[in-house]
Amino acid sequence: MEKNILLKHRLQLLQRLSELKKSMATINVELTEAAESHTSFLQDPLDHAREQTDLRASFEIHEKYINERKEIMHALERIDNGSFGECDDCGEMISSRRLLVQPSALLCLECQRYKEGFTVAVMAKMPKLNPIDSTPFNYSREEIA
Ligand SMILES: [Zn+2]
Repeated sequence: MEKNILLKHRLQLLQRLSELKKSMATINVELTEAAESHTSFLQDPLDHAREQTDLRASFEIHEKYINERKEIMHALERIDNGSFGECDDCGEMISSRRLLVQPSALLCLECQRYKEGFTVAVMAKMPKLNPIDSTPFNYSREEIA
């Protein structure tokens, strides 16, 4: 890949990384505040439930940021070792259009689609997990007696 294009991608990645750092700092503050102002379950069950939902959402976002940061660091490494832009699966060059939108992409569009299609197929075959159905306390009184 041409040096000036690589440089452009590096700048783009570094910019996103600094945005990510800011967002992560914000959400860290949110999570810390939530932990400190934690209401007791006995005080107000509704408040507690709402808090739990908010907290879970924040954790999910936090996790997403961590994953994205990992991807960006990986992409920067790939720029340094000269493998940036190569598909991790087939070794072909990832299209420049794709890299422009998502410089941290590790797979070409075809491999990405294949992988996603595969994941969807596997998920569809997995049994649905329903904790209510699988609990032994779900028997009716007649069944137990
Ligand atoms: Zn590929």
